[in-house]
Amino acid sequence: MNSKSGFFLKLAQSGLQNLAPYKPGKPIEELERETGNRDLVKLASNENPLGPPDRVLAAISGEHGNLSRYPDGGAFYLKQKLSERLNVAPEMITLGNGSNDVLEMLARTFLGPGTEAIVSQHCFVVYPLLTKALGADLVEIQTRDYQPDLDSTLKSVTERTRMIFLANPNNPTGTWVSKKEIISFMNNLPSSILVVLDEAYYEYVNSQDYPDGIELQRDYENLVVTRTFSKAYGLAGLRIGYSVSNPEIADLMNRIRQPFNVNSLSLVAASLALDEMDFLGESIAINNEGMKVLEQTFSLLDLQYIPSAGNFLTVDLDQNALPIYKSLLQKGIIVRPIEVYGLPNHLRVSIGLPHQNERFSVALSEVLSNFQS
Ligand SMILES: *Cc1c(COP(=O)(O)O)cnc(C)c1O
Repeated sequence: MNSKSGFFLKLAQSGLQNLAPYKPGKPIEELERETGNRDLVKLASNENPLGPPDRVLAAISGEHGNLSRYPDGGAFYLKQKLSERLNVAPEMITLGNGSNDVLEMLARTFLGPGTEAIVSQHCFVVYPLLTKALGADLVEIQTRDYQPDLDSTLKSVTERTRMIFLANPNNPTGTWVSKKEIISFMNNLPSSILVVLDEAYYEYVNSQDYPDGIELQRDYENLVVTRTFSKAYGLAGLRIGYSVSNPEIADLMNRIRQPFNVNSLSLVAASLALDEMDFLGESIAINNEGMKVLEQTFSLLDLQYIPSAGNFLTVDLDQNALPIYKSLLQKGIIVRPIEVYGLPNHLRVSIGLPHQNERFSVALSEVLSNFQS
């Protein structure tokens, strides 16, 4: 047995050599184990603070008897339902084990050594991870005031560019681009370059000029839209998301898709969740309310935040965020440090239930006053 460290690293694919694994928000169970504190608030992973919809919970309990069977790999019923809801052909829909899985299928379909993907500075970290893991080159465009710079993006296109990732709104900044900006961008982009428009927070956005990517997809065959049940629908733990694309792209993705990538409970849950309009409405209302509360908190503390269209708010602490993050952990509150996104002075805070936002606000002002004195 050769246990010299780095022995297997040299054997790994070159794309993996400089890759750091994705670091998720600290799980509640972990902080519970570490501190013994059982009264914890997690505002670190943009999860729906209401939990899953009740009716979805009841329905998946009824499915347990079917767990010895493989799921429907073609996801007939869910695709049918999404197709009606979104007014797209079922052949345009690709389901994934979370939208992460869909993003990975897209990347594996089009990226590899000798190709390039373009992302924005402070983009969702999964895009660079996938690009590098596949041995493709990553081109990162500087943001302006945290906003993606679409003109520079267009200018950076080369004949090796295959894909442009754009989250709308973006995580962790919460910034979004308008319909007018996307249309002008798409009109000026060669149709051989795929734009992956990641709409994980689509349901939460209430800005008038926010585009519906699936509507735009009708006009641009090189546009792929991804959405998820992890956020507003409250099903992050089940892992289900999807893309809407040109059928030919969907067919290519299907060639590398794991045959049973979406499990049977998720198929049932997602289908039902689409009918939970009241739950969705309540989730959005709680988010709007909580957003205002956190904005106020930060303003009162004289902290700048990045205006967000998602279910989270990113705040500039004007000092390294890690010590403050750790002090908040001591008070039983988990938020998200985002130095891996190039924002070492910022924390990303997911919008919680009213009492959770309140606890966070109080804790933050206590922590900050300790740091100032
Ligand atoms: C949360 C999030 C996702 C969703 O990931 P799932 O795999 O669907 O849970 C995708 N993109 C962005 C930008 C996100 O923040």
